[in-house]
Amino acid sequence: MVWDLIIIGGGPAGLTAGLYGARAGLKTLLLEKAMPGGQAVLTEKIENYPGYPQGVSGPELMMSFMDQAMRFGLEFKTEEVTGIDFTGKEKAISTNENSYLSKAIVIATGSRPRFLDVPGEREFHGQGVSYCATCDGAFFKEKKVVVVGGGDSAVEEALFLTRYANEVVLVHRRDQLRATKVLQDRAKANSKMHFILDSVVEKIDGKNFVDKVQLKNVKSGEMREESTNGVFVFVGTVPNTWFLQGVVEMNNQGYIITHDLLSTSVSGVFAAGDVREKFLRQVSTAVGDGAEAAMAAERYIAELD
Ligand code: NAP
Repeated sequence: MVWDLIIIGGGPAGLTAGLYGARAGLKTLLLEKAMPGGQAVLTEKIENYPGYPQGVSGPELMMSFMDQAMRFGLEFKTEEVTGIDFTGKEKAISTNENSYLSKAIVIATGSRPRFLDVPGEREFHGQGVSYCATCDGAFFKEKKVVVVGGGDSAVEEALFLTRYANEVVLVHRRDQLRATKVLQDRAKANSKMHFILDSVVEKIDGKNFVDKVQLKNVKSGEMREESTNGVFVFVGTVPNTWFLQGVVEMNNQGYIITHDLLSTSVSGVFAAGDVREKFLRQVSTAVGDGAEAAMAAERYIAELD
């Protein structure tokens, strides 16, 4: 059997592509290696998705995306893509369980947290080092945590952690945060938040569990030790494109380069959401991408016949 459209990745972009593809009458399959919702399910509250004036929980929003897509006949399979061959007229995909053929593909594999790559980070992963405040914040009740990074994720998650921890120290490598002003203002007004700027983490240390970090001031070169019970790392993301190396054109960070109608360098292969090179990575922009990529795929398929 040949599918009309296979979508790889079940975050907001993939689920929206699934909704639009299935609703347009395309035989549409979505392959997702884990649970639906992508990174958005790790967000406790999404405040800037239109239609929810009081905000909405990430898991709740993603479950409703999934329900809506399934209602229109999207087929969803929990399988991990292990190989692809986009050279033929029909695109071939293999997973840990099956092989598939499809007329068109939407890649919506998103991104994952970037590691700091410092001594102690791997050893203490799960022993005080975390990349998800929603998942692990509750373990740090009345404790002290260090948050690394200066973007929206770092500041938003640091604020979330103030619900549990009694002190949250944000360590950022420059003297200015990158996060949007509204988040910065909120963080600066929070008495549990402290900032160590112009500084990077050189080492994470402890016995069985994290108990300190070594920090270096990048301007003065001065080293200091900061005691902490945990380290939350939010230093950006890396795209999930390892299986596409040499197949579709990417920028030097591995994000897929898209053109008109979200087409990639391979005819019939489209990219949507955080996985592509773009200005703003949000649920709202992922939704727009998913809709556009699916409709572009529909047009591509119509022109094939
Ligand atoms: P980001 O915006 O790329 O920020 C990454 C931060 O980590 C930057 O402050 C960067 O420093 C720092 N950094 C990078 N590599 C580092 C290293 N090796 N050591 C120390 N620090 C390092 O990533 P993000 O915060 O994960 O956000 C990703 C996207 O999601 C953004 O588009 C963001 O706007 C969006 N987002 C939005 C919301 C929201 O709207 N509420 C929430 C979360 C995320 P520099 O500043 O010096 O580069």
